[in-house]
Amino acid sequence: MAIVDVELLAVGAGPSNLALAVALEELAPDLARDSVLLERDERVTWQRGMLIPGAMSQVSFIKDLVTLRNPRSRFSFLNYLHDIGRLEQFVNMGSLLPYRAELADYLRWTAESLSLVDLRLGRECVEATPVHTNGTLTGFQVRTADGDTYRCRYLVIGAGRDARIPEPLLAVAPERLIHSTQYRQRITELKRDEPYRVVVVGSGQSAAEMFIAVQADLPECSPTMVYRATGPANGETSKFINELYFAGYVDTFHASRPEARRQMLLEMHRTNYSGLSVGTMDTLYRQIYLDRLTGRGRLRLIPMHDVTGAREDGDEVVIELTDWRNGAVQEVRADLVLLGTGYSSQMPAMVRALSESLGQGEVEVTRDYRMVIDGPAEAACYLQGVNEATHGIGDSLLSLLAARADDLLQDILAHRAVVVAGTRPTSVPGARRVAAAVAG
Ligand SMILES: Cc1cc2nc3c(=O)[nH]c(=O)nc-3n(C[C@H](O)[C@H](O)[C@H](O)COP(=O)(O)OP(=O)(O)OC[C@H]3O[C@@H](n4cnc5c(N)ncnc54)[C@H](O)[C@@H]3O)c2cc1C
Repeated sequence: MAIVDVELLAVGAGPSNLALAVALEELAPDLARDSVLLERDERVTWQRGMLIPGAMSQVSFIKDLVTLRNPRSRFSFLNYLHDIGRLEQFVNMGSLLPYRAELADYLRWTAESLSLVDLRLGRECVEATPVHTNGTLTGFQVRTADGDTYRCRYLVIGAGRDARIPEPLLAVAPERLIHSTQYRQRITELKRDEPYRVVVVGSGQSAAEMFIAVQADLPECSPTMVYRATGPANGETSKFINELYFAGYVDTFHASRPEARRQMLLEMHRTNYSGLSVGTMDTLYRQIYLDRLTGRGRLRLIPMHDVTGAREDGDEVVIELTDWRNGAVQEVRADLVLLGTGYSSQMPAMVRALSESLGQGEVEVTRDYRMVIDGPAEAACYLQGVNEATHGIGDSLLSLLAARADDLLQDILAHRAVVVAGTRPTSVPGARRVAAAVAG
């Protein structure tokens, strides 16, 4: 059980914190040498639960960890392709969209290319707590599952969002539920030739991908897709609306009134959530069409129903569905439930627990992603990828990674300059204001 002291600790080696690690190595090498990045998994990858063969990323490869901040970086996706000898083949494909699997491999390659930041795999952080000295916040302490403790002045949490499990399904044993974040890992553990009755909940991209994939993964299964929508819909791809994913739009979004932010998120919902890619929509519809054509009756869709209850009956899960058009209730029996239900809109449990131990209520962050902390602070905590409500719909995606890493790092450097100069900053102002204070 070791105690490790470090200036900056980043939790989670997903795209967010890898982009930060790259920014640290390029812009602040001294700080990079005093930084540790902890990842709970034994390897770095991307969306491990949904690495379905043939699945594509929905964002241009140019929106990698670094290019939009530093197009000359050695950590770019293009340099990855060059390094592994696939650059010409990728160019020849004529697409801006990489396969999900190659983006995952790019993240692995980036992690292995880091030379200053200390990446530690197989370290699950289980708790983050504040450290106070004479009433001033002076650091954070993070405990890992293997019993080690890391102490830092700067804590950056980029551990993704918590899976959303519909309330009625919380009553069902976890062995019978597979959320999309766990799909690949868990589906391969099942007996391949069992005639499972599978219910897929949801009609967005992840739900549709699981509905399609499970037919190959469990060839004897009969899947039923249950969803609230009138029907699976295409994702919104307007180039005009897509401009709201630009890094420069974060300032405008953040400065907007709360009702305006909510309205923008609502209008942009289908650019990222509940909409299918053209390829997935086509495959899904063709599968249903062929199933009807052949009269096989293996595939079933139950639209416009809410999951309103669930219980276990022996080895079965009994799901209660309510038709929202007329209130009619029916039950569906399943052996396995796949959840394409996305992520919780709440802050992750670890962040909420940290906020509670700081004696604070709702978690708030500045424009530069620094958690607002009441009272004097010589340390700071940053949150990546969980600020959609205040920073816009691009916050949980790849689009903003490079620019966000820069915003966040500049804030840390400015904050650090003030702390090292001996001036005690309050925790509320953003980096630009901290920098202005430093400049006098
Ligand atoms: C199926 C799917 C497809 C997607 N496709 C796209 C796409 O095409 N384009 C796009 O822009 N976005 C896409 N997204 C959105 C995606 O969330 C982001 O692209 C990106 O992965 C967010 O990065 P992140 O680092 O914030 O979080 P994550 O990718 O979730 O990474 C978090 C990391 O933290 C680790 N971790 C978690 N908890 C702990 C802990 N307690 N201790 C230590 N480590 C921990 C995890 O293992 C993980 O490695 C997709 C999401 C899904 C689910």
